[in-house]
Amino acid sequence: MLRRPLEINRRAFLSTASAALLLQAARGFALPVPAGQALRSNPFLLGVASGDPEPDGFVLWTRLSTDTKRGDGGLPPVAMPVRWEVATDAGFHHIVQKGTASATPEMGHAVHVEVTGLPAHRDFFYRFHTADATSPVGRSRTAPAANATVDRLRFAFASCQNYEHGYYHAHRDLAGQDVDAVLFLGDYIYEYRSKDRPRVHTLPKLETVDDYRTCYAQYHSDPDLQAAHAAHPWIVTFDDHEVENNWAGDIDQENDPPAAFLKRRAAAFQAYYENMPLRRTSLPTGPDMTVYRTLSYGKLAQFTVVDTRQFRTDQPCGDNFKAPCAERANPAATMMGPSQETWFQKALSSSPAQWNVVANQVMIQQLKERRDGELVYNMDQWDGYPAARQRLMKYLAEAKPSNPVVVTGDTHQTWVGDLKADFNNPDSAVVGTELVGTSITSGGDGVARTRFSDEELRDNPHIVYNNDLRGYFLCELDAKEMRSELRTVDKVTSMDGTVTTAARFRTEAGKPGINVA
Ligand code: FE
Ligand code: CA
Repeated sequence: MLRRPLEINRRAFLSTASAALLLQAARGFALPVPAGQALRSNPFLLGVASGDPEPDGFVLWTRLSTDTKRGDGGLPPVAMPVRWEVATDAGFHHIVQKGTASATPEMGHAVHVEVTGLPAHRDFFYRFHTADATSPVGRSRTAPAANATVDRLRFAFASCQNYEHGYYHAHRDLAGQDVDAVLFLGDYIYEYRSKDRPRVHTLPKLETVDDYRTCYAQYHSDPDLQAAHAAHPWIVTFDDHEVENNWAGDIDQENDPPAAFLKRRAAAFQAYYENMPLRRTSLPTGPDMTVYRTLSYGKLAQFTVVDTRQFRTDQPCGDNFKAPCAERANPAATMMGPSQETWFQKALSSSPAQWNVVANQVMIQQLKERRDGELVYNMDQWDGYPAARQRLMKYLAEAKPSNPVVVTGDTHQTWVGDLKADFNNPDSAVVGTELVGTSITSGGDGVARTRFSDEELRDNPHIVYNNDLRGYFLCELDAKEMRSELRTVDKVTSMDGTVTTAARFRTEAGKPGINVA
């Protein structure tokens, strides 16, 4: 189907091959030799992914590209048929589902296949073919049946993977773990160019859909990120940098007219959808996109994924670290917007699951910090929206949904602590648990300890642990408890960083709150 000869991009091709090898090493199965070697150019430079597992299937994703520096992937502006296969074995001797999808230029030559009809809670392997090229092999896993009693669920969560700030050692480590799913909580890309970093963005600033497509192509070209996608199904949501730093509803930080910002948001959402293993229910309509949703793992766990960007009111008192001003007390302040807030409470109250895991973007726990002796809050976090947080805490305290555990991104540090009925009253009830994961790379190396002063530790008695290194979390749930493990990277700025366990945590079922194990 390739209408014109395409150049070989041998370096990028090798990185796809090494991703396949990494995956092979990580999971111990043999991969077929990619037929792409017979082509003049490999169209699978962005790898493969799967996502949003249901008991009978999942989404399969790839996006064709022969040139990772171009938004159009160096492809002709025509639709290309892409065959897909799902098998029970990595050698594809037992193919259980197959079909053909169309990779169109309107969708950035992305392919989203919603596979159905598979048995629950099983591993499957998948791959794509186009022209005479074959993609790397991915592994996915269906969710348990809705009414199933599940002994154990393992998941990872991660966020904030600024490509320029370092190497994805955390993703390489994650690719080798045995998890049912990976939650990615936002800042998959960053929309600006940094200075003096180990890697450099292709484009300095993103504005058009082609710009965002180019940025995603560069991120997806990373072999470690490809390995983590190929190894596990992902459940994704966005935060601010998929569009622009600290945007809130239809307001951006540069105070562009809302119409101009919404045009950029539409371009960013289009590219986000094209580059993520999302279902059609998340296909954007102009500047609007629905990513809040629930996913069930039998009677053991429900993931409730929220969107705290698209429907929030503007940050009060200026952005980020500011002393509290009167505007912060606005009772109408909202993080989710009224209709998502209603949906959220219903989703948790009607959940049949033992554990209710909330996939959330920005930190809910109160975090009092001192800057030059002055007490400040990060107004982009729930600290900027105390009325909205109080509604959420009141709901958890009164409705008592079963074992709420919030997993959060954004801060580029690890913060583990208790959700309190009233954060300003240390004697108030613990109503849930929050694990704020650090970043995959954003912020650079960091240090293996807290940056908190003794005074700040006293100001925040609900926080049990803080660590400034990069990394991600592994969590394991059973009927009795949740065990969490923080994996940290010693150095993201060098190519030979190593990943180790920095700390372990325990949350008992029926007893909200978390302890260092
Ligand atoms: Fe971030
Ligand atoms: Ca963020």
